[in-house]
Amino acid sequence: MKHLKIQVQGIVQGVGFRPFVHRLALQNNLKGYAYNDAQGIIIHIQGNSKDTDIFLEQLKSQAPVLSKIENIEIEEYPMESFNDFQIKESQNGIHQTLISPDIAPCEDCIHEMLDPNNRRYHYPFINCTNCGPRYSIIQDIPYDRKNTTMSDFKLCSQCDKEYHDIQDRRYHAQPNACKECGPKLIYVGNKQDEDELENAINDLKEGKIVAIKGIGGIHLACDANNKQAVLRLRKRKQREAKPFAIMAKDIQTAKELVDISSVEESFLISKERPIVLCKKKAPNSYIELSENKELGIFLPYSPLHILLLERCPVLVMTSANLSDTPVLIDNEEALIKLKDIADSFLLHDRKIENRCDDSLIRIVNDKPYFIRKSRGYAPIVIHTPFDVDGLLALGAHQKGSFALGKNHHVFISPYIGNMETIETMEHFTKALDTYKRLFEITPCQAGCDQHPDYASTLYAQSLDIPITKIYHHHAHMASCMFEHELSGPCFGIIWDGTGLGKDQTIWGAEFLIGDYQDFVRIGSIKPIDLIGNEQAIHEIGRIGLVMSMDANIEQTFFEPTKQEILKKIRIQNSVSATSMGRLFDGLYSILTKKITQDYDGQAPMLLESMVQPTDKKYSLKFYEKEHVRYFDWTPMVKEMIQDTDDIHIKAQKAINTIIDMAIEQVHTLNKEYLPIVLSGGCFQNLQLLQGIYKKLMKENYTVYWHEKVSCNDEGIALGQLAILSQRRK
Ligand code: ZN
Ligand code: ZN
Ligand code: FE
Repeated sequence: MKHLKIQVQGIVQGVGFRPFVHRLALQNNLKGYAYNDAQGIIIHIQGNSKDTDIFLEQLKSQAPVLSKIENIEIEEYPMESFNDFQIKESQNGIHQTLISPDIAPCEDCIHEMLDPNNRRYHYPFINCTNCGPRYSIIQDIPYDRKNTTMSDFKLCSQCDKEYHDIQDRRYHAQPNACKECGPKLIYVGNKQDEDELENAINDLKEGKIVAIKGIGGIHLACDANNKQAVLRLRKRKQREAKPFAIMAKDIQTAKELVDISSVEESFLISKERPIVLCKKKAPNSYIELSENKELGIFLPYSPLHILLLERCPVLVMTSANLSDTPVLIDNEEALIKLKDIADSFLLHDRKIENRCDDSLIRIVNDKPYFIRKSRGYAPIVIHTPFDVDGLLALGAHQKGSFALGKNHHVFISPYIGNMETIETMEHFTKALDTYKRLFEITPCQAGCDQHPDYASTLYAQSLDIPITKIYHHHAHMASCMFEHELSGPCFGIIWDGTGLGKDQTIWGAEFLIGDYQDFVRIGSIKPIDLIGNEQAIHEIGRIGLVMSMDANIEQTFFEPTKQEILKKIRIQNSVSATSMGRLFDGLYSILTKKITQDYDGQAPMLLESMVQPTDKKYSLKFYEKEHVRYFDWTPMVKEMIQDTDDIHIKAQKAINTIIDMAIEQVHTLNKEYLPIVLSGGCFQNLQLLQGIYKKLMKENYTVYWHEKVSCNDEGIALGQLAILSQRRK
């Protein structure tokens, strides 16, 4: 006979863990009790040792799908007299543990929803302990129905019975609901049918644009096969070119649009259901959906989506927001703000408490490579050997995010968005308050970007705790190092669009050596003048003009008077940037003579999309100034302009040249073979990422890239937190 106290830490609340423990105990003839505590769940079992052994084995091997066991501690206890096995109520105030993300419907629920004899037939809010909304509906801890937006709905007697029956799949499923007692659809539009869903489906089939409320926000949807509808949506949303994501009914349907590898498929059907960027079947197909060679595809991730997609098998599903503001979550607000965009609305009366956008990934070398990490993953938790307790990192600007530390856990916010607008800032502060409350963290120290004008920096300064300003590219580098638990020194190839450098100019094509304490810049590229500052990011012809001027070749980008004026403005009002993003903008403009881009990052993406394979490249030239080795891109630009090859070959040659430039810099600047980290938004470009990676690996360097957070500015908060924690030591 044995009495064991077992402490399980990890995601074990709200995922059916207690009933699972109860069943295991009964199966193995064990007595005792279990209850939730601050770290997870405490289990006392008493019985013969063979049975306790089996219990322990099954506890690990058969744990519920949504649970995540991080640690188990076992202690032997003196014998007691128990009558049975009981689940005890947790004491108030001590329920703090990890929170599950929102999860796509499980097979059992889908089966019930499609069964005409089931009481939840076609009920779009069906869920159980193994699936359904979680993070998006939680308001406070502990994770109980009264602390979620489901508190608006009183369980009917049948649902209540399921909720309290330990043998039931819905035992303690907090969002449990049915047609009688749960959330209902709301249709606002011109259709007259009694059935809200039917109305929306008919609208979609007619080519209308329908605003559809989902899990973490509202989408604007239209039939992806109806070109006119897609173009209308682009026009109304003023989104000329940025790719749309497509929700496909199932994998088979998705395979008609794109090629899907087995790893891509595993992510598409995963419980997190991110958007996965997949290669189009025909590179020039569906141009109105995406001008790139790829298409973002995802599968239905709520019961409502499944019902809609049954009848409309491919839908454009794009976040419903107005430029640079967060995705809408509120019914009233949506009805007002989307009145000129949506023809009708399919909403519901379950409130979204915590907004999260769809996550976006690419598969690289059979692993996920995040571009946006949000719904399905939020709240993002990274376990670390470093002590990060009480630290807060406020991220950067264009892709805002924050990170909070507690003991050895980093809690990272979902994607927040462009911090330029008041609405985004409100979202940021609200999400931060929620995280502090849910994870019970009172930060005692904060880190932010060095840029004095970032909203996140200003916010940091408004807090009454000590703050540390951290250089943007140092944070990128530290973020990648931290993910891989590297202690440094490392060699960073940090390429992005914009970040303030140590010399107060804009950096973005940097070669750094450093650890968490500090870094030195040892390599970069020849600075590019940005005529009229920020305006050049939109009007990329200005960058093309500057680059061809510096290469001593006269090129026409604008009509003559404007071009002359711009040359004058260059002298009076320009800043210089060593930015890889801008270098790509300029190259694209020179190649295509396009003078504007619709969104930041469009030109580099199109450049990557237009290449045709070749091994050829242009000349490399370097120069040294104040111990920094710069790549001089002027010979490359000159040769490219004079090159008579096809434009697609020229694009590939330019990318080959930049890859080789990186390798050359590594040869010269990293003679000690320090571990190399690749970070910064430019590494969303797979040609750069894989090109540099493959060549360096062949030469026996160790190379790391991001696997847990995005390489773009969304990953900055993690880097800031890493630097804070290591400097504190
Ligand atoms: Zn389920
Ligand atoms: Zn009910
Ligand atoms: Fe950056």
